[in-house]
Amino acid sequence: MSPAYLPPPLFALLGDPVHHSLSPSIHNAAFEASGLDGVYVALRTRAELVGPLMRRLGRIGGGGNVTVPHKRRAAEALHHTTPVVTSTGACNVFWWEPARGLCGDNTDAAAFAVAAERLIGSLGGRRVLLLGAGGAARAVVHACMERGVALVDILNRTRPRAEEIQATQGSAGKIGLLEAADDLRGREYDLAVNATSLGLRSEDPLPVPVERLRADALLDLVYGRDETRLVRVARSHGLLAEDGRRMLAEQAALSFERWSTGPAPRELVYRAVGLDWRSP
Ligand code: NAP
Repeated sequence: MSPAYLPPPLFALLGDPVHHSLSPSIHNAAFEASGLDGVYVALRTRAELVGPLMRRLGRIGGGGNVTVPHKRRAAEALHHTTPVVTSTGACNVFWWEPARGLCGDNTDAAAFAVAAERLIGSLGGRRVLLLGAGGAARAVVHACMERGVALVDILNRTRPRAEEIQATQGSAGKIGLLEAADDLRGREYDLAVNATSLGLRSEDPLPVPVERLRADALLDLVYGRDETRLVRVARSHGLLAEDGRRMLAEQAALSFERWSTGPAPRELVYRAVGLDWRSP
């Protein structure tokens, strides 16, 4: 190795599991196309290493993303946060700034809004059913409140987690809590969102009995190489439905824009997850 050799900055996805992630394919292609010097890898990471790794990667000029189950811990490790990190308690992208130290943001919220509004138009005044109350659900609630939805009803296996969202992120009684799928009777929604992790494994049950759902559209935040079973079943019941790949591509593009001074090569980023950015 020549003494003048400087390795490219290292960017990493920190999570567990990470083997299924499309982020390395997306970001290495984006680095290559944009001329941004960097290498992106996925690192299966134990909880106690999240903060130290974020600081080390930042200090060597890199950064990265954080995924399940470490987004809360990542938020706690930051020196500088944004309002969306404070509201959601979750960080999914980080980088280093000499004056501010370890900086982080949550690009899931804005990415969800892009995917949802592509599906149903403006979220303003809409009625939303949210399945799940984890980190992704918090990002959905943040985006919904920011865009002035009429209502978000949350249905989650563990009610106290939904209650916590209602207590910390609700405004003007806009968040309702459902006990069970039976409570769906008589309720109608513009959009149903699956923010549970059900669907990641092929043997998972559906997060809701779709035949009981009265909704115009469904956005499944779960994604894989192919469309999810929930999306296929929802379409067979006449709902407009999309999986989580558009949200994934958009959060990746927004992450890239935190590390770079220029815009992300969106066409290429969307292509890396099998989508056409320009198609309606
Ligand atoms: P999380 O914080 O671990 O939350 C998981 C949620 O799933 C909780 O509400 C949990 O309910 C529920 N859940 C898990 N197992 C369940 C089961 N067997 N039955 C019923 N509910 C169950 O995870 P997260 O970060 O919110 O992520 C959730 C999903 O969104 C993941 O699949 C993730 O890949 C996806 N996601 C996609 C994107 C994207 O860009 N497309 C971005 C972020 C997340 P309890 O509270 O009862 O445990």
